[in-house]
Amino acid sequence: MTSIDAIVIGGGVVGGALAFGLARQGLKVKVLDEGDIAYRASRGNAGVVWVQGKGYGCPEYQLWTRRSAEDWPNLAAELLDGTNLDVRLENRGGVVPYFSEEGRDKRQALMEQLRIEAGNAGFEYDMLDRRELARLVPGIGPKVFGASYTAYDGQVNPLNLLRALHAAFLRLGGRYVSNARVTKIEAAPHAFTVRAGVETVTAPKLILAAGLGTVALAPSLGLSVPLEPQRGQVMITERVDQTLPLPVQGGIRQTHEGAFQLGGTAGNTGFDDRTTIQGLSQGASFAVDCLPYLAGVKVVRAWSALRIMSPDEFPIYEQSGEFPGAFVATCHSGVTLAAAHTYRLAKSIAGGALPEELARLSTRRFEKSAANQGQP
Ligand SMILES: Cc1cc2nc3c(=O)[nH]c(=O)nc-3n(C[C@H](O)[C@H](O)[C@H](O)COP(=O)(O)OP(=O)(O)OC[C@H]3O[C@@H](n4cnc5c(N)ncnc54)[C@H](O)[C@@H]3O)c2cc1C
Repeated sequence: MTSIDAIVIGGGVVGGALAFGLARQGLKVKVLDEGDIAYRASRGNAGVVWVQGKGYGCPEYQLWTRRSAEDWPNLAAELLDGTNLDVRLENRGGVVPYFSEEGRDKRQALMEQLRIEAGNAGFEYDMLDRRELARLVPGIGPKVFGASYTAYDGQVNPLNLLRALHAAFLRLGGRYVSNARVTKIEAAPHAFTVRAGVETVTAPKLILAAGLGTVALAPSLGLSVPLEPQRGQVMITERVDQTLPLPVQGGIRQTHEGAFQLGGTAGNTGFDDRTTIQGLSQGASFAVDCLPYLAGVKVVRAWSALRIMSPDEFPIYEQSGEFPGAFVATCHSGVTLAAAHTYRLAKSIAGGALPEELARLSTRRFEKSAANQGQP
């Protein structure tokens, strides 16, 4: 039996960032992580720090994402300094292409929506015509009409990120236990006992950040967390000369080593995480439409992974009302939000309460109002 300040269940980028952030606040933290048998989005994602398009109808999420992107250079620098691991942050912005006049109008309307919803915080974007886009993205294909651009977007190496978060956490004295599948949580206010195989850990704080594993564990904390898997399929090409300076939404980015990462389709196929010819060819076609020279570049590897989706696609942050001290954190943009989780969210959890700005992202938004109960 080991006593510590906080238990984090899940060692993906969300649990990893929170564990590191809590250790930065001086807490003694233990991470229990299931292992390779689990679904692990943090090991299969596209590595984009993406702001444009986040939070339509939810300005709180838009601003949370923006703040994370702003904090990202600090996170990258701190990880490099503390662990010597370079997450290769490139924050030169990003583009979303469209292929017709109608596509441009739709895109502009969405960008305007974000600008209006941002209120005083503002939201700066540009609508680039073909010529302007070609200056930014050389080799753009003839089918592309133009693109929206924001300077907020960027990219990192997602595997380096995961490794660096863990290394930084361990360096601050954190303990990480792998192959530790949590099967039982005994909860009381500010008193949690967690069992994972031979491990039994107690702590006054518990952070549930187990990705898709969150759904099964949340009820022991008096919480209901609705999440569904959403499959994404990704390809990596051989390494070629650097030609693409920033990510293109729809799944095209060039890594700092020169490989192109392509794809990122979205499919609701339950827990089926196999790749399909159809899914991969869809990603490849989009890439070749945007950058025709990619038709001559060889794909060397492909995989699929499951996103962790809430019903409205916004993150979920909650402290249990029944068992204060227990928190849940989950999102479908854990790379983008890694800085917000490390700095802002971890500090709030260490202080015992979630920030007011995240109230809109609690599970309460999924509760049916009394008036709706029982209606067909
Ligand atoms: C194809 C694809 C592309 C993506 N691209 C991007 C992108 O470009 N940018 C971006 O920001 N996000 C992207 N995402 C989303 C991002 O990967 C996720 O938001 C993020 O990885 C979620 O991290 P997590 O720690 O919550 O979940 P996970 O990485 O799934 O980690 C959950 C962890 O919990 C552990 N666990 C589960 N159950 C238990 C249990 N009972 N006991 C103990 N441990 C348990 C597992 O072992 C696992 O390590 C993408 C996702 C996919 C699938």
